[in-house]
Amino acid sequence: MQRIVIIGAGLVGAALAFRLAEAGAEVTVLEAGMQPAAEASGRSFGWINASFFLNEAHHHLRVAGMAAHRRMARDLMGGGMAGLWHWSGCLWWEDEDAAFEGQAQDLARLGYPLREVTGSEVAALEPALAAAPRRALFLPQEGAVDAAALTRALLQAAADRGAALWFGMGATGVLMRGGAVCGVRMGAASLAADQVIVAAGTAAPALLEPLGYPLPMLPRPGLILRTRPVAPLLRHILAMPGQDLRQDAAGRLIAPLAAHHQADRGETAPQDPAALVAAAIARLEALFAGVALRPDATALAWRPVPGDGLPAVGPLGPGLWAAVMHSGVTLAAIVAEALTAAVLERGAEPMLAPFDPARFRI
Ligand SMILES: Cc1cc2nc3c(=O)[nH]c(=O)nc-3n(C[C@H](O)[C@H](O)[C@H](O)COP(=O)(O)OP(=O)(O)OC[C@H]3O[C@@H](n4cnc5c(N)ncnc54)[C@H](O)[C@@H]3O)c2cc1C
Repeated sequence: MQRIVIIGAGLVGAALAFRLAEAGAEVTVLEAGMQPAAEASGRSFGWINASFFLNEAHHHLRVAGMAAHRRMARDLMGGGMAGLWHWSGCLWWEDEDAAFEGQAQDLARLGYPLREVTGSEVAALEPALAAAPRRALFLPQEGAVDAAALTRALLQAAADRGAALWFGMGATGVLMRGGAVCGVRMGAASLAADQVIVAAGTAAPALLEPLGYPLPMLPRPGLILRTRPVAPLLRHILAMPGQDLRQDAAGRLIAPLAAHHQADRGETAPQDPAALVAAAIARLEALFAGVALRPDATALAWRPVPGDGLPAVGPLGPGLWAAVMHSGVTLAAIVAEALTAAVLERGAEPMLAPFDPARFRI
């Protein structure tokens, strides 16, 4: 049996562990932190969507990612964890007509399910809003998931199928013999492996570059605010000009502190996060007139965004694989399915071809 080591227990590594263990592979997950979802996956907005995309191949991969999440919900613990996902749909609007129409036309051209709704329809769909926009796009197939809870559930399901989970075990290098992978180094210790998948998020370049595989990453800090729970206010994910927003099952509002956060190009961590939080609380209180909100926790994570913004997923050399991406919540389920098939030589997935992780090699 192939010995497969996955480096990183974020959502991407966990999804891979689940699908590979389910397929009968001998899987070990190495995680540098003391718990799963220690980095980006623990601080994500968790929106599963294809309305943000950089090119057509990226859009289609994201659409496939949404379908793969539904399969994951079916397969994970016999469907017993399906409550982690909320397939509420998204309401998306813009202040500027040109931006609104551009997005609507692009998505319609790609055949993405959507419906334009009037202001009064938005008011009926979201009665707690103090003021509805003039019009919005309703994107019915989009949803959200608590990425940290899903990571934990996937790792549990992988362990139930025999996967070994090691925490506090940072990989310090991938071992090669005769040009092929033979193991992973963890300081003075080592672990034999036939296949190694690097799913270490922003830390992936430190493992890949010494092997001759450059993986430039964009510096993309992401700050996310969670409020104390409040009574149900929101039924859908909202993507508004200055704010993405959703409410989780516990009643907390979850708010990235950057407008259109997935497309955010900010490179430095905010100098005054307290001011950003105060401004966001004021913005949200104005959105739902009369509702008092209190921040619960605010977290910063560096999002794993490869240099051209697109995922870096696939083979690099004999036994060596990369799975590094932003919008990794949207993409984790499809990447896990596709890489499982490729690693176990059960078929290549053509939709991954545009995201070849070796593309940064000169
Ligand atoms: C504020 C914010 C909002 C976001 N919103 C969305 C969204 O709405 N939709 C969406 O699809 N995506 C979103 N993302 C992006 C998404 O969360 C990430 O793309 C995804 O979580 C990446 O998962 P990952 O497993 O690849 O990386 P990570 O979650 O970063 O996990 C990598 C893991 O590898 C471990 N590791 C690192 N180095 C080593 C090593 N040497 N050895 C062992 N372990 C190691 C780390 O400790 C970490 O646990 C958001 C991200 C942020 C920060």
